[in-house]
Parts: sequence; structure tokens; C-alpha cells
Amino acid sequence: PSVPDVESLQHPDVAVLLPEPSGESDKYRRGVVGVAAGSARYPGAAVLTVAGALRGGAGAVRYVGPEGAAVVARFPEALVHAGPPVKAGRVQAWVVGPGLGDDEDTVGQVLASDVPVLVDADGLRLLDPDAVRARTAPTLLTPHAGEAAALLGRDRAEVEAGRLDAVRELSARYGATVLLKGSTTLIAAPDPRLPVRADPMGTPWLATAGSGDVLSGLAGSLLAAGLPPLDAASCAAYLHGLAARRAAAVSTPITSYEVADALGAAWRDIR
Ligand code: AMP
Ligand code: MG
Repeated sequence: PSVPDVESLQHPDVAVLLPEPSGESDKYRRGVVGVAAGSARYPGAAVLTVAGALRGGAGAVRYVGPEGAAVVARFPEALVHAGPPVKAGRVQAWVVGPGLGDDEDTVGQVLASDVPVLVDADGLRLLDPDAVRARTAPTLLTPHAGEAAALLGRDRAEVEAGRLDAVRELSARYGATVLLKGSTTLIAAPDPRLPVRADPMGTPWLATAGSGDVLSGLAGSLLAAGLPPLDAASCAAYLHGLAARRAAAVSTPITSYEVADALGAAWRDIR
């Protein structure tokens, strides 16, 4: 039988993949996720990315960057480091890029690590394609159509007109898993034999500032918890959409912070 080119994510697929702690768990075994995000210009991106990461199943979140004070003011449970990522201590996965500004060194250091890395937003603008291809651990890229167009050297309209081709091509070019955001989010693994996954849970209410930052933190946390990139990205997209729908059922318009806050309830819906 031939493999379908696109497969839609279903509730039970996500339910079996979500990590749960057991009697043997401790915070380190559940995974530590490093978040390198935010800048003086975009302090809120640090907070929203950490918010997503705290709801993704990792045992601890390590924030690295200049906005540690803003992060702990909102989340006292986060670990914060002001120095570069290489000095922050061990993590099981990194998220780099939301609101990062022009900090190219941070992107380079994180890509040089031997753990899974999610690159989003400013990180996508600053990444060196050769550094991605040279990695020994998996990479997950999470562009929206505009970011995908920049990575491919095309117009946004071309990407919008051929989203399936675009996500496949990016994945092949970078040897990375790619989550292409949009009204239907598509996720492609570098292995072209695997079908692209389509997330049916999105809602237009997600078209609001900062919602992508929450998604990055969430997906990075699932990577740190040990999910392979295709599964981490799929579960994150699905939970993110479900959380947005839950928040929108209470009041609209929704804010990205409310999406992060509804993630725990979305998780319970799936379980
Ligand atoms: P970003 O562009 O990085 O802020 O991410 C926006 C988030 O909102 C992504 O998860 C998108 O998939 C989602 N999103 C944006 N617009 C829509 C839409 N019209 N319908 C569903 N989801 C959307
Ligand atoms: Mg974004």
C-alpha cells in the first residue's frame, strides 16, 4: 500500500505520545529544556516561551539571556542564567530564537550542542545552514510562511501557494524536521518516505502576537522530555490549538498568555 503524502493528526495519536511522570521520575530524568529567547526590545518573548516550556512535560526550564528578571517575576519556578548558553549547564533540548534580536553567537552556540534544538523566529534569520546540516542531534525549525520564504529565498506568496512543497523542500535542504505554521500547520520529517502531518486544531484566534513563542517553548519542552522531533512538533501544534480553542470558549479575543495558561487544561482534555 502506498503511503499517503499528508496525514491529519488525531486525538488518540497525540494522547499516546504525551509523556507522563512515573514513580521513577525526577526533574532531571523528565528532561531540562533550555530557552534562549528575548532581548531588551522583546522581553515578553522570553516570558511567553518559558510559559510554553513549563507546560510541555520537561522537569525544569532553564532560561538563558538578558530577561531573567522578567522571567522569574512571572515564573519563580524557572532557572535563570545571564551568561552564554555554553555556561548554563546541561539541558536535554534547546529552544532558540523568539525575540532574540541579532544575537548570532547564541544561535551558533546552541546549534553546536549535541542535544535536539528548536530554532524559531529571529533564530531562523541568523542560522547558518551548514551549521544545521553538520549537527549530530535533531533540529526542528518552526517558521511561519514569511520566515519559510526567507529561508528558501522565495516570495511569501509562492510559499502560501505551495505549502506542502515548501515544507518538504525546507526539510530536505536543512536535514531538519520543519513545522510550517499557518491556518493548517504542516510538519515534515527529513525522511521523505514519512507522510507530512497536518494539524487540524488551529484557530484563527491564534493569529495574535506571541502565540508562536508559546508554541516554541511547548515543542522544545516535549523534545527535552524525549519525544522525537516529528512527534514533539505534532503534539505541540495540536495542544497549542486545543488550548487556544479552550481559551476562546471563555472569552475572545484571546491573548498568547491565555493560550499558555490553557495548555494544562488542554493536556487534560487529551489524556
Ligand atoms: P507566529 O507567526 O510565530 O506568531 O505563530 C503564530 C501561531 O498562530 C502559529 O502556531 C500559527 O499556526 C497560528 N496561526 C496563525 N494564524 C492562524 C490562522 N489563521 N488559523 C490557525 N492558526 C493560526
Ligand atoms: Mg513567531
